[in-house]
Amino acid sequence: MSNLKPQHNGACHCGSVRFKVRLTDEFNTIRRCSCSYCRMRGAIAVSAPLSEMEFIQGEDNLTLYQFNTGTAKHYFCKTCGIYTHHQRRSDPSQFGVNVACIEGVSPFDFPEVVVTDGVHHPSDTLGGDRIAGILRFSPTE
Ligand SMILES: [Zn+2]
Repeated sequence: MSNLKPQHNGACHCGSVRFKVRLTDEFNTIRRCSCSYCRMRGAIAVSAPLSEMEFIQGEDNLTLYQFNTGTAKHYFCKTCGIYTHHQRRSDPSQFGVNVACIEGVSPFDFPEVVVTDGVHHPSDTLGGDRIAGILRFSPTE
């Protein structure tokens, strides 16, 4: 683990789930996504390597949601329902972390967030893992 980057504390709304995370490139990787799931969820995500996310408590209080190709893993707290993080589809070595769960920052600190075109996910448009008969919508990942 790199000790050069600051470690951020994070938690869900009710505090059942608590974690520490070092981000891939601080808040330079924040994104919104237009896919069918993210447009409902409405969260802003920031990237972190899988190995840099460490759960202090409540990892067993997370629930997993998968859809479409099932590649991405979207986690949220069983108690308060808040999305904490997801394992990306486009790069499974990375988590997307809910910026709103990170202590000391607010999603409203970033008025101009890039929107990823999740409706036309690269994994679909390149023909990689498209599943016939299922909506072309793909998640944020
Ligand atoms: Zn919670």
